[in-house]
Amino acid sequence: MRPFTLLHAENPSDAVEIVAGFENARFIAGGTTLVDLMKLGVEKPEHIININGVQGLNRIHVEGDGTLRIGALARMSDVADNEKVQKGWPALSQSLWKGASAQLRNMASIGGNLLQRTRCPYFRDTAFQHCNKRVPGSGCDAMEGHNRETALLGVSQHCIALHPSDLCVSLAAFDARIETLSAAGSRVIDFADLHLLPCATPQWENCLHPGEMITAVVVPASSAARRSLYLKVRDRQSYQFAVTSVAAAVELLDDGRIRDVKLAIGGVATKPWRAKEAERYLIGLRIDESTALEAGRLAMSGAEPRRDNAFKITLMQRTIVDALLQLLRLEVA
Ligand SMILES: Cc1cc2nc3c(=O)[nH]c(=O)nc-3n(C[C@H](O)[C@H](O)[C@H](O)COP(=O)(O)OP(=O)(O)OC[C@H]3O[C@@H](n4cnc5c(N)ncnc54)[C@H](O)[C@@H]3O)c2cc1C
Repeated sequence: MRPFTLLHAENPSDAVEIVAGFENARFIAGGTTLVDLMKLGVEKPEHIININGVQGLNRIHVEGDGTLRIGALARMSDVADNEKVQKGWPALSQSLWKGASAQLRNMASIGGNLLQRTRCPYFRDTAFQHCNKRVPGSGCDAMEGHNRETALLGVSQHCIALHPSDLCVSLAAFDARIETLSAAGSRVIDFADLHLLPCATPQWENCLHPGEMITAVVVPASSAARRSLYLKVRDRQSYQFAVTSVAAAVELLDDGRIRDVKLAIGGVATKPWRAKEAERYLIGLRIDESTALEAGRLAMSGAEPRRDNAFKITLMQRTIVDALLQLLRLEVA
């Protein structure tokens, strides 16, 4: 690892003022992504601002209008365990529980989870020379290499790296918003706009400006969210990233037809992916094997498969079928 300076911030304005004074600086929360990547030589910050002492950023609460507000420093395990989250947004809690390991969930923060970086081996291993995300303009070894764990949706000719977060899939489904603070002031970003498609500049992964700190994640109340789940298919049952995953939520009319549906998918795209076309198709229909299958087909309709990941088209379709049929059987208080 290279030498770096470590500074400590005690309140949000401290944090953004300190970071604004440097060119190559990063915030650190749990460190479970950043320190890994520094050890690998992928991230090389000269200055690190520890935000763990910043007061008030670990709060999880539901406001008067039913909106859920999660501070950026809340730990994955605390949000997963929160009773209000479990009841009002079950998919959100499950997406956290099914991520990483107990030890990691105790360390890792919500803000850091949103900004975790791809697990693409060609990005993480500096022995590979061609990675447009790590070394812009160098090419992409994943295109013709081992590409089982790469994306099929949102890809470009410059990058097919997968977005790995489980939490982000459920936040995409629930129309979340992100609150940030920087030396220039505060702003609110729709979650759908936070992550960028790789296009010709895969090194730019999100729309945050240098030195902009995430302060909170805000999740609106929704009737559909109560009947929701996060289904994650992985190569082994725990401590594993998703091969495919679905965050699904439905609100049903008395006659069983769908009034509202939210569907987001993971393990297949370069950014958290909302399956809007599938949602539009499902509105007004009843969930059964055939409508669920068609929703799955629509969700993957723009897929650009490669040699080792083409199997995910069918697997994702089946994951969606399974998720929607399970939603029907859920008891909702
Ligand atoms: C072995 C292993 C297995 C894992 N498995 C899974 C999994 O199955 N599913 C899953 O979803 N995740 C998984 N993860 C990823 C894990 O969830 C993330 O590493 C973690 O959420 C990152 O949070 P952190 O607080 O440790 O972030 P850090 O490492 O502290 O920070 C990550 C990045 O975010 C920036 N950052 C942090 N907080 C802020 C903020 N408030 N504002 C602006 N920038 C900020 C940092 O500068 C850094 O660039 C796994 C990780 C490991 C190491």
